[in-house]
Amino acid sequence: MNQIFIGLFLLSILNLVFIEAGKCGCQKSKLKRAISLKIDDMLLDHVDLMKIEGFRGYDKNARRWTDNTLKYTFHPQFPADKKQIVRESMNELTNDLKGCVKYVESTSGYHIKVQSHQPGCWSFVGMLNKQGGSQELNLENPGCLYSKGTIKHEFIHATGFMHTQMRADRDKFVNIFWERIDSDFCHAFVTCKNCEETVTYKTNSVMHYPSESFPCPGQRITMVDKQNKEIPYNHGTIEEDHQMIKHLYQCK
Ligand SMILES: [Zn+2]
Repeated sequence: MNQIFIGLFLLSILNLVFIEAGKCGCQKSKLKRAISLKIDDMLLDHVDLMKIEGFRGYDKNARRWTDNTLKYTFHPQFPADKKQIVRESMNELTNDLKGCVKYVESTSGYHIKVQSHQPGCWSFVGMLNKQGGSQELNLENPGCLYSKGTIKHEFIHATGFMHTQMRADRDKFVNIFWERIDSDFCHAFVTCKNCEETVTYKTNSVMHYPSESFPCPGQRITMVDKQNKEIPYNHGTIEEDHQMIKHLYQCK
């Protein structure tokens, strides 16, 4: 019964994917129709869609990592000279979280396989499968391996979090210029009913989009804060990012 429900749910979402190629602007009222199984750099499944849609029965702990530990290994093709920046990023995050969540390079048990041979920077959201094996996290070389902020951003997706500007309360903190967004990317601006609102909203969160996200031709910025200031690309985590993770993983 449950599988039938999930199947129908996925089918309905896939049928409603809403793309207007090459156009400017998103209709806010049609935004829910734009939800798909890939929102920018996040690969999603039915559990994530339940989170976004606010379905009853969604378990916020479903995708937490066992023992608060994210194990990762490098794919054999991962560039050797870029392993260090990933290791440093993971050590910094572990230290910043005071060990609440640990990012450990290890081949034992279920883990993240860090690869760079596919296009773009992307991750799944949280721990997918507690039975064994691995899940991919892609950091294209060199674009995704310049900034520790990008590496940490993808690993925080893998830890179980979506984008800050997807929070249901985001309109209190940012102004979105709907008419300037590339219509192919309207889905990147959906809100999520069950995303974390446990910490103060900060536009300098490493999980927040910058102002220059997905403009259509002839435009440059799609979002500003409430003081009309542009939001830069964020190169590192802030205390609110750490608090958000600690809250889900039940640390002080
Ligand atoms: Zn992201």
